[in-house]
Amino acid sequence: MLKRLYKLLKPSNSNSPLIIQENEHNISERDISRSALRVVDQLRKNGFVAYLVGGCVRDLLLDGTPKDFDVATDATPEQVKSTFSRNARIIGRRFRIVHVRFGREIIEVTTFRGNPAEAKTKAKADHNQSEKGILLRDNVYGDIKSDALRRDFTVNALYYSPEDGTILDYAGGIEDLQKRQLRIIGDPNARYKEDPVRMLRAVRFASKLGFALTPESESPIYKHADYLADIPAARLFEEVLKLFISGSATAVLTKLREYGLLKFLFPGANNCLDSGIEYYEKLIFAMVSNTDRRLRSNKRVAPAFIYAAMLWPPLHAKIKELVEEQKLSHHDATQHASTGVISEQLSYTSIPKRFLITVREIWALQQKLSRREGKRALQTLEHPRFRAAYDFLLLREEAGEQLDGLGLWWTRFQDADEGERTDMIEKLPKSTKKRPRRRKSSAKPKSND
Ligand code: ATP
Ligand code: MG
Repeated sequence: MLKRLYKLLKPSNSNSPLIIQENEHNISERDISRSALRVVDQLRKNGFVAYLVGGCVRDLLLDGTPKDFDVATDATPEQVKSTFSRNARIIGRRFRIVHVRFGREIIEVTTFRGNPAEAKTKAKADHNQSEKGILLRDNVYGDIKSDALRRDFTVNALYYSPEDGTILDYAGGIEDLQKRQLRIIGDPNARYKEDPVRMLRAVRFASKLGFALTPESESPIYKHADYLADIPAARLFEEVLKLFISGSATAVLTKLREYGLLKFLFPGANNCLDSGIEYYEKLIFAMVSNTDRRLRSNKRVAPAFIYAAMLWPPLHAKIKELVEEQKLSHHDATQHASTGVISEQLSYTSIPKRFLITVREIWALQQKLSRREGKRALQTLEHPRFRAAYDFLLLREEAGEQLDGLGLWWTRFQDADEGERTDMIEKLPKSTKKRPRRRKSSAKPKSND
């Protein structure tokens, strides 16, 4: 990370940053995306200042691979857009940023944020808070120092200049990186209040980096988890995905529960976990550890699979209640329960329609996987969601559900040739329960003649 720690002296003046010289750290241009370097270079050639900032600097210092590269500049979004013309698009309202695209890679360029309190008189001030103090818009521009202090955690507020290789630290991020701790910048209560999503970011970074939250950054989370109730469901959906595909979903889930945040994301799953029923806990934790394992081996993780598993315990509990107490058939209870569970979830986190369809398909296929007679097994195998549904079945068994070796049967069936498949179907135990014969429609009254 840092080569010569003894040389790091605190700046004499609190307005000037701690400067880490090129030969004092491990970041090399080779580790940085060409596109990000081009963006910084182009902005500088146009007379602006520009730095790499945020997660990429943090991860490079920790010898990790950045997920993406962010650039901060004194150019306004319009100036950035005209610098990159057709490659650039201004996006966001709450927080206007510019996406500069190079092929499949997008570099996010943000304009230095200022302190809204000092900028009230400025014509370009565009700052707006909800009644509860949540920042609705934060488009007041400032300089690099004010920008650093508007960021969330000290380790996310380090600026790297590719031009001379220096790192600028205005918030004490280097020291916290060395101590492997996560500290929110400024007054923790106020910063969580103005953007409650920072509590989720705290959980994500602490889990992913294996850092401890400083006590001042941690204690308000226990008290103010309910601030999350005021965040739009669409934003929470995005954050949920980031939390679960962080590569540390197991640690994330444990922390979300511990801080009382989970009930504002997945109230149904949270209740089921609190109920102490082992199957529910095992199923959810099997899902997160599978997710982490898949990401470690560079496999794709489907958001619908995560949702299908997080919502399975409340679905399961509801079906059980409808069957046992209201005497509904299993089929009707499933229909009823899935609609109820999904509509409750949508008031917490949104779920885009394409994912929602897949969630329902994974659930519906669970019943089909156990009906294998005749042509049914082959039809189920052809279903576009078969693979996800089969993985889900294995998850249920891993969580302790007794399904008479159904998972193993399907594992073999997939690998078998045509003859073996026919054989497997023939050998299925004959269902002892006779299906009730369909009665012909009695809509027409019988005539007596
Ligand atoms: P990663 O990309 O690895 O998830 P990151 O730290 O780069 O982590 P981004 O969401 O890409 O996170 O945001 C880039 C930077 O923008 C952050 O490092 C942080 O400095 C700042 N930032 C992002 N979200 C917030 C927020 N809600 N409040 C304050 N600053 C934020
Ligand atoms: Mg980033």
